[in-house]
Amino acid sequence: LLHLEKIGVRFGERAALDAVDLEVAEQEIVCVLGPSGSGKSTLLRVVAGLQHTDSGRVLLAGRDQSGVPTHRRGVGLMFQDHQLFPQRDVAGNVAFGLRMRGTGRAETARKVADLLDLVGLPGAQRRSVAALSGGEQQRVALARALAPQPRLLMLDEPLGQLDRSLRERLVVELRDLFGRLGTTVLAVTHDQGEAFALADRVVVMRDGRIAQAGTPLEVWQRPASEFVARFLGFDN
Ligand code: ATP
Ligand code: MG
Repeated sequence: LLHLEKIGVRFGERAALDAVDLEVAEQEIVCVLGPSGSGKSTLLRVVAGLQHTDSGRVLLAGRDQSGVPTHRRGVGLMFQDHQLFPQRDVAGNVAFGLRMRGTGRAETARKVADLLDLVGLPGAQRRSVAALSGGEQQRVALARALAPQPRLLMLDEPLGQLDRSLRERLVVELRDLFGRLGTTVLAVTHDQGEAFALADRVVVMRDGRIAQAGTPLEVWQRPASEFVARFLGFDN
């Protein structure tokens, strides 16, 4: 579904991404791991069309995306600071992208109800987002990202704000949810436990390059370098 070819992004002298090649297959869940500043968020922004590239190509379903604006790429994005609209209720937040696309009122209401069931917040339409817990807000943000039915869902530290026990629970739920929906996912996380629990394949980044890509088991059992081994060992 997603094919990155030799992507390069420079900020001044520094390469944020350096000749990155990556494939994500239909319905695959890929987690990107790596230290702070290794280029994880930049990679997602490139795929979304929110970041210029100095070289390389982004293909989605075989089509070169150069010049294609974000809203025409069919990708969904959810950032760590999920920025819900505090003045709108839950339904207003989830419906945001749908109404923008001109979906009618009745169909929007039905979709919102389905999405809230899906993320485990049935009947929460009229609740104020400001009064929700962190985990509930993450679920609302997820429902909002899923609403337009993106062919590729990209998550940047989706559970970053939550405590460990809630994260562990949500990861299991997410994996189940994505499996049922057949969603293709490219997710960034600092947390290797999260990546290993969620991913079909993990990608470890270092200084704008891919240090290793493989199934969680492969990467765990056979780290490709000292760097990967150390990263897995010490970054709890
Ligand atoms: P973190 O785990 O801290 O979120 P990251 O892996 O997501 O880190 P990126 O945000 O992709 O890292 O940044 C990669 C590199 O590019 C960093 O050195 C960062 O300082 C640099 N960078 C990112 N965006 C910009 C920008 N708009 N201008 C200048 N440098 C940038
Ligand atoms: Mg980042």
